Amino acid sequence: MSITRRKSRYAEQDMATIGTCHLCGQQKLLTYEHLPARSSFNRESVEMFGLDSWLGRAADGSMTGGTEMPGGAGAHTLCYECNSLVTGNHYVGELKRWTTTAMAIIAKELKGDAAGNALHWQMKRVYPSRILKQIVAMLASVNSASLLDHHQPLREFALNPRAMGLPNRYQFYMFLTHPTSTVARYAGLSIRLAPGTWCGTWITDLVWPPFGYVMTIDESQHDQAADIDLRLPILVTDEPYPGEFADPVAGGAFSKTRPMALPTADSVRIPVDVRLADGYRTEGAELAHPTPFSEWTETEIKEVLESLLRTLCVRAGEEYDVSFKWVYGQGAVLSVESGPRTATTDWLPVGLSVVAAFTGHDRVPDKGIAKHHDTMRFNDSPTGGE
Ligand SMILES: [Zn+2]
Repeated sequence: MSITRRKSRYAEQDMATIGTCHLCGQQKLLTYEHLPARSSFNRESVEMFGLDSWLGRAADGSMTGGTEMPGGAGAHTLCYECNSLVTGNHYVGELKRWTTTAMAIIAKELKGDAAGNALHWQMKRVYPSRILKQIVAMLASVNSASLLDHHQPLREFALNPRAMGLPNRYQFYMFLTHPTSTVARYAGLSIRLAPGTWCGTWITDLVWPPFGYVMTIDESQHDQAADIDLRLPILVTDEPYPGEFADPVAGGAFSKTRPMALPTADSVRIPVDVRLADGYRTEGAELAHPTPFSEWTETEIKEVLESLLRTLCVRAGEEYDVSFKWVYGQGAVLSVESGPRTATTDWLPVGLSVVAAFTGHDRVPDKGIAKHHDTMRFNDSPTGGE
C-alpha cells in the first residue's frame, strides 16, 4: 500500500527489469506502467509513502520516508506487449477521455461547500468495457503478480480487446474524487470487515484524481444497477485504506461505509497469513486492533478469532477447526481452518493468564496447544449489524 503526493517535476525514469508481468503472467522484460496512465494526469513527479509513513505523519500532515517517482507514479509491472500493445493501444485513450471530461467538470462545478455528493454528466459514444479493462490492468499492477493467476476471467477479459462480460463475482465502482481529498493511493487486495455483513469483502482500489477505481470480489450485497448516465458518487479520500471513503455531505449515502476503528499509530497490527479456497494466499495482510497488547484479555483474542472466520467467510453450517498454541515468553498463535481455507496470525504477545482465560482454564502450562472443532451457527451478522 502506498500513498502519493504531488511534488516537483523531474525527468522521466524508465529502467526495465525482468519479472512476472502482472497482466499476462509471463516472465518478461517489464516496462514502467504509469498508474494511472500518464495521459490521465500522471506526468508530474510524485513522492510515494508506505502505511508506516502515513501512520507516523506529523500534525500538519507532513510525512517522511517517501520515495521519489520522477515522471509520474507507477511501477515496473507490465511487459511491453501488455503495456503498449494491449492497454496502451486499446484502453488508455478511453481512460484519458473520461478523466479529461471529469477533471473539467470538477473544476467547473465543484467549488467549495456548494458542491454536492453526486454529479450527473453525459458522455457520448462511451466504451465501458475499455474502461473496465483498463481498470483491471491498473488494479492488477497495484496487486501482487499472482492475483490474476487466481482470477483467470479477469486476465482473459483484460488481455482481449474484444472480450465482453465478466462473472458478476467481480464488481467495479468508480467515484469522482472531491477537490478536498488529501490522499491518492494504491491499495492491494485487502479484506474489509464491515458492520452489517458477516463475510469480509475483498477489495482493492486505486484512487487518483479525478477518479477512484474500486473492485470487490465476492461481495455479499451489491447493486446490480448499471447507471449508464454516470451518476457517480463524489467521495473524499483521506485514509490510505482500501474501501474507506468519506462522504463530503454529512449524513450522505456513503457515510456509513466508514468503519468504527481504523488503524492509528497506536494500533497493534497483526500479520495474518490467509489462504483461500482457490489457493490465493495474501501477501503482507494485517489485522489492526485499537487496544495495545499490554491490555489484551481473552476478549481481544475472541475478536481476532471472529475476524479470521469472517475473513475466510465461514458460513452457517460449515465446519471449522481452531488451533491456539502458546509458548511462555513468546505469546500465542491463533489459527483457523475450514476446508482448504486457512488463516493464521503471527505471534500475539500475550501472557499465560490471557491464554488460560481464552482456553477456559485456571492455569495452563508454559507451552501447549488447544484445539477446537465446531460448526458455524451464525446465519448472518453475529454482531447484530445495522
Ligand atoms: Zn504481459
